[in-house]
Amino acid sequence: MDKLGLNYFDALDDVASSIEDNGMHENMNSVLVVPSFHIHSLCDTTNGCNSTGPHFNPLNKHHGAPANHHRHAGDLGNILAGPDGVAEISITDSQIPLSGVHSILGRAVVVHADPDDLGRGGHELSKTTGNAGARVGCGNTSEL
Ligand SMILES: [Zn+2]
Repeated sequence: MDKLGLNYFDALDDVASSIEDNGMHENMNSVLVVPSFHIHSLCDTTNGCNSTGPHFNPLNKHHGAPANHHRHAGDLGNILAGPDGVAEISITDSQIPLSGVHSILGRAVVVHADPDDLGRGGHELSKTTGNAGARVGCGNTSEL
């Protein structure tokens, strides 16, 4: 079972936020783990990570890569863990504000088992989820 560590979101200005993920991402079946990482719409974990809803998508766009302007706001792409299964990342992103109508507070961070194909995989799920597989870890986004 994967573990999701602490995620810190710091507002750099009205539209930009940064993330540091010091979580453990363990996978017994591979040496190098490339899980994907999204903001989902709901902070509901009553049924585990499955009740966090779809990717946060306030502008009703297709799934895409973090570098794409046209993407779900919650599409934060793939993260790379070392052979020890630990991922330490820092992301700066312009589509995940901490205030306003598109705020990511009160939602969830979800780590998936598989890499995100960033909308380009040609799979039936590519344009909605990036075909990222099972939800293996999650946590609510809330103000400290
Ligand atoms: Zn998405």
